[in-house]
Amino acid sequence: MGVSNIKYKLRTKLSLSYLLITLICVASISIFANIFLEKQFREYVIKNQNVKNQEIMNMISNQYGQDNKWNYDYISNIGMNALESGIIIKVKDSKGKIIWDATKHNTGLCNQMIEQMAQNMNSRYSNWQGKYTETKYPIVQVFKQIGTLEIGYYGPFYFDDNDLKFINNLNWFLIAIAVFAFVISLFFGTLMAKRISNPISRVIKSAELIAKGYYGDCIPEKSNTREIHDLTETINNLAETFENQDKLRKRLTSDVAHELRTPLTTLQSHMEAMIDGVWEPNIERIKSCHEEILRINRMVGDLENLEKIESDNIVLDKTEFDIAELTRNIITNFESDFVKKNIKIMYESEEQLIMADKDKISQVIVNLLSNSLKYTEKGGKVKVYISGDKDKVQLIVKDTGIGIPKEDLQYIFERFYRADKSRNRLTGGSGIGLAITKAMVEAHNGSIEVQSKLNEGTEFTIKMDK
Ligand code: ADP
Repeated sequence: MGVSNIKYKLRTKLSLSYLLITLICVASISIFANIFLEKQFREYVIKNQNVKNQEIMNMISNQYGQDNKWNYDYISNIGMNALESGIIIKVKDSKGKIIWDATKHNTGLCNQMIEQMAQNMNSRYSNWQGKYTETKYPIVQVFKQIGTLEIGYYGPFYFDDNDLKFINNLNWFLIAIAVFAFVISLFFGTLMAKRISNPISRVIKSAELIAKGYYGDCIPEKSNTREIHDLTETINNLAETFENQDKLRKRLTSDVAHELRTPLTTLQSHMEAMIDGVWEPNIERIKSCHEEILRINRMVGDLENLEKIESDNIVLDKTEFDIAELTRNIITNFESDFVKKNIKIMYESEEQLIMADKDKISQVIVNLLSNSLKYTEKGGKVKVYISGDKDKVQLIVKDTGIGIPKEDLQYIFERFYRADKSRNRLTGGSGIGLAITKAMVEAHNGSIEVQSKLNEGTEFTIKMDK
């Protein structure tokens, strides 16, 4: 396959992304700073130079203006001052005769300065193509040129030591920021990566344990990252669901085995007794054996029935009928059983027409009624109400029976689940009835709910569209 097998750790990836982002930010800031600041700085240097040149010009021109002739000492003074601050000047009169020339006055110093300028610029720009340049400014008095001022420098522009220091400091400052940003991003990157990857590793560990069948490893750590919080919650719920399913499966297997074993053992011992001649095979005994076989058959039938319903292949044969009338008929069929057990049955309803599978709905009602009959003691009461509006119908079966313990309520719709095994075995139920009931109601897009209190009674509510 073309996919690379190398898997990077989330932590490495996150830390690296933090570093990369910082690197990009710092690099772009540095580049921008260098390009823009230097441009500005260059302009500033050039402007500054012009201002100084102008000052020198003004001083020289003022001197001529006052005396109407060149004062050599004064000009020499200006020239030397300028030389000290790195400006090489030459002053000529209107005929081009040199009045003062810095290069003549102190050749050594001038050469040294020019060399210094070249050195500065070369140290800043590796292939700086500069050369000694002179700019000429006319010295003007009352619209008349009285001379020329020539200012020499290493052009097209140059940085003096202070300028260079400023630029270098700026670069050092940027480098320091970069290092600082790197350290900070490394620190926070690792911290964040750890905070994200740790819970994920924990979830992986938990999921692996779940895969191996250990469900008790609940993740207690809470995260304030929504997705991670949801992930750990989901894994915890998953473990709980699996654990319950597992318990139920084990209980189911042992229940089925037990359910089958009881009639089979009875059957076996009866048969053996008859074969060995201990019992005479009279009609009574054969009938009892037949009953056991019927019981096994019923169980297997129930299982098959449930399998059919649960494999999503329920085919609904829908017709319109009055559910109130159907319920009344079923209650009438059950009446003698209720009377036998001295249970009072009450029924309240008006006509409610629904579109549904009549056989399946009648099985639902039969299941609920037979449960009420089974789990209500003598002298109890069972009430059935049907109500509805133009879209929905609701059926309630309420009894004053033994009730269902709170911890069992969530499981009673599971296959083979019986709230109190020892007590219910006597009633002969297999724990499939409600699973079938639920599957049938849901096939009609309806819902079934239960409310119950131990020793007080149980209420089943079914809601369906009409
Ligand atoms: P069963 O064949 O055991 O009645 P069901 O699936 O019909 O199986 O019901 C599952 C379990 O729910 C029963 O074993 C019983 O413990 C409990 N149960 C159902 N209906 C009632 C009820 N009306 N009153 C008390 N417990 C009930």
